[in-house]
Amino acid sequence: MLDKRKFYINGNWTSPSKPNDFKVINPSKEEPFATISLGFKEDTDAAVKSAKKAFETWKETSKEERITLLEKLLTIYKKRFNEMVEAISTEMGAPIDWSSEVQTTSGQSHLEDFILRLKNFKFEEQFDSKSNNLISYEPIGVCGLITPWNWPINQIALKVIPAFATGCTMILKPSEIAPISAMLFAEMIDEAGFPPGVFNLVNGNGDGVGTHMSGHTDIDMISFTGSTRAGKLISKNAANTIKRVCLELGGKGGNIVFADAYSNAVRDGIRNVMSNSGQSCDAPTRMLVEKSIYKKAVEEAVDEAKKIKVDLASKKGDHIGPVVSKIQYDKIINLIKNGIDEGATLAAGGPELPNNLTKGYFIKPTIFTDVTNDMKIAKQEIFGPVLSIIPFETEEEAITITNDTEYGLGNYLQTENKERAQRVAKKLRSGCVYINGKGADSGTPFGGFRQSGNGREGGKWGLEEYLEVKTITGWK
Ligand code: NAD
Repeated sequence: MLDKRKFYINGNWTSPSKPNDFKVINPSKEEPFATISLGFKEDTDAAVKSAKKAFETWKETSKEERITLLEKLLTIYKKRFNEMVEAISTEMGAPIDWSSEVQTTSGQSHLEDFILRLKNFKFEEQFDSKSNNLISYEPIGVCGLITPWNWPINQIALKVIPAFATGCTMILKPSEIAPISAMLFAEMIDEAGFPPGVFNLVNGNGDGVGTHMSGHTDIDMISFTGSTRAGKLISKNAANTIKRVCLELGGKGGNIVFADAYSNAVRDGIRNVMSNSGQSCDAPTRMLVEKSIYKKAVEEAVDEAKKIKVDLASKKGDHIGPVVSKIQYDKIINLIKNGIDEGATLAAGGPELPNNLTKGYFIKPTIFTDVTNDMKIAKQEIFGPVLSIIPFETEEEAITITNDTEYGLGNYLQTENKERAQRVAKKLRSGCVYINGKGADSGTPFGGFRQSGNGREGGKWGLEEYLEVKTITGWK
């Protein structure tokens, strides 16, 4: 059992103000493998105090000094890459190859990309060539960073790196369900030699440290990634202090497959939704299929889902692992049962454990067909390997169904007709639209419309979130 009870405050691994043990569970085995502490208000206050003090000097550092430290951190991240792979795989059930090639790699690529963006970022600019007004971009201050378990280091890197880069100081509260990758990242930050207090880590849950942070008078900004439910609570609790609140929340992505889609579009859609065991905020969990190809598409979808193996996270190879926790497992199974009760057709998968496994939070890739958009399985974010297939007849109908959700994070569309692809992409109400399976370039902004959030992470937009904008007149 790993002992990870300490917090990282003011450059030291520090015991909690009072013992409050919490077991971290390996979801493949349903067994605890580490003990952390859940912090109290005193722990949050100590971290905030240290971040507030450190801000006075860190905000004065030059861009070059910060780049040097970030480059050091990148070198250490590469050196300790395999430890990160292991941590993520054990804490949240990502199969070891997926943890390496996708999850852990995402942390490295965010580091690399933010270093590049920082090098090109101008913290001062003249308003226009005739003006003597200076526009100055200045760090917002002490940041509270609250992250989820599903893409742990990806979310942490998207917050911690731009906060460092812009001259902010911070308190990170990772998900208590998957905190080990965050603690390893804290060790790397320590090894890189960032000044004490610039980065602090306090473990805790939402009702405790999370709530202390969102209401804290000395925290200037909260950057939160997680559920829309928690995003609302954080916004309300933050309101009294008028702090900036950047939210990256849930999603219920549509994937419109037109009759002229490329030949592997349906199969790719299945792989996309089932990867990470369906635990991605921008997963295309509603597949909308044009009626003329509906029967064939369903056959392909079911065939592809049946090919996806489910197995232990520790095993190498191309399979999906368990979902993260008993709570998530029960929620997903209940929603699958609910889909059956609502009258959708269960075409693949279902609520039983896969045949090759006797314990662990494993769920078979599950497909519902003949789903209507008013069913719970089409409306609610399930956050498991579950897809709803919905037929449509016209382009307008496909757009209406896709936009008929409270979310707006990532939508997808598949057609060989370029004009139609561009026309539909502009009409979809989401922060990202992916045409014909093409991924977003490194450094493009990521975020949501509507109840999927209000922030944009990545690239120069990700840096700007941590900055105040000041106008200074009479500069020259
Ligand atoms: P969650 O909201 O339960 O928890 C996320 C984090 O918030 C955890 O650290 C948790 O301790 C903390 N938290 C919970 N309640 C809080 C409160 N009242 N105040 C302060 N902090 C609180 O979410 P989760 O189950 O860890 O993650 C899954 C969710 O995250 C999904 O809804 C998913 O769509 C979303 N997500 C969104 C993005 C994005 O970029 N939009 C990326 C990944 C995950």
